[in-house]
Amino acid sequence: MLYPPQINYERPESISEALSLLNEHSRPFLIAGGTIGVLNLKRRALSPDLVIDIGRLKELKGIDFRDEKYRIGSAVKIYEIIDSEFNGPGFSLLKKAASSVGDPLLRNMGTVGGNVCIGDPSNDLPPALLALGAELNIVGKAGSRNLNISSFYIGPYRNLLAKNEILGSINFAEPGKGYRWFYYKHYIRHLDHSVVNVAALAKVEGKKIDDLRIAIGGMSVRVPTLIETSWIKGITAGQEELQRVVKLASEKCLCLDDRHGSAEYKKNMIEKVTQMAFLSVVGGVL
Ligand SMILES: Cc1cc2nc3c(=O)[nH]c(=O)nc-3n(C[C@H](O)[C@H](O)[C@H](O)COP(=O)(O)OP(=O)(O)OC[C@H]3O[C@@H](n4cnc5c(N)ncnc54)[C@H](O)[C@@H]3O)c2cc1C
Repeated sequence: MLYPPQINYERPESISEALSLLNEHSRPFLIAGGTIGVLNLKRRALSPDLVIDIGRLKELKGIDFRDEKYRIGSAVKIYEIIDSEFNGPGFSLLKKAASSVGDPLLRNMGTVGGNVCIGDPSNDLPPALLALGAELNIVGKAGSRNLNISSFYIGPYRNLLAKNEILGSINFAEPGKGYRWFYYKHYIRHLDHSVVNVAALAKVEGKKIDDLRIAIGGMSVRVPTLIETSWIKGITAGQEELQRVVKLASEKCLCLDDRHGSAEYKKNMIEKVTQMAFLSVVGGVL
């Protein structure tokens, strides 16, 4: 049994207090649900001079829907996404990704913000949020800024948050009526992280594709990535378009042999799941 080292721990009452603590310490470390953060402390992967627990901050809680846009507080638990009343195509995609996270214990403790910030290439929520074009609201002492999730990651486990910033909320517009969605997690054993995963959204008008978004996760050396599909707008999709999208996904694939499988196996699976996603959201017109 691993125990964490002795740590200095604070549970601030407000974001402003949390930001002051971040600024006052040289090696602060944030935890929300702590499902990965505490594990890393136990493994001695970190030696913070203060652990700041933001998991119960009211300002980081709640899921709101206003003007066709969702605002999800970063400390919202994964299970709250699954249990929420919202059922538009965009939110349903996120729900499916959320229900693919680990087991009930992890979903009860883990937060949306923690899932996004850790930057694990195999996590379930980032591909769905990427397909949804989510904006991240980031707060710091000087104010707040918005960043699209597509430019948030600079590599596996690395993002553009400064040391003294907190992810406040995750925001996205509901794509709405007429959109079809798909999420699939390919894994080896129950409760495992994804070998590869895919999130997709599409709108087909008549027989023509109006919008297609496909995001792929699980590549060992790349955080989730969007496939370039803007060229397909207005096209009646057939086998040729399907093969082109699969080829684009394969070309984006940057995998290494890792505990989830060999690079070759992963590349093969990326092609398969892209095909599944395309057929599922565009399918009827092929
Ligand atoms: C056995 C096991 C299985 C797992 N399986 C899955 C799985 O199948 N799918 C999946 O997606 N994930 C999985 N996870 C990963 C993890 O449980 C989830 O990603 C969870 O949502 C992380 O949230 P958390 O609140 O516990 O993060 P924490 O551990 O609290 O934090 C994670 C990281 O994010 C940072 N952070 C957290 N919140 C913020 C914020 N608001 N602002 C800035 N930084 C922040 C922390 O500093 C830390 O670096 C698994 C983990 C374990 C241990």
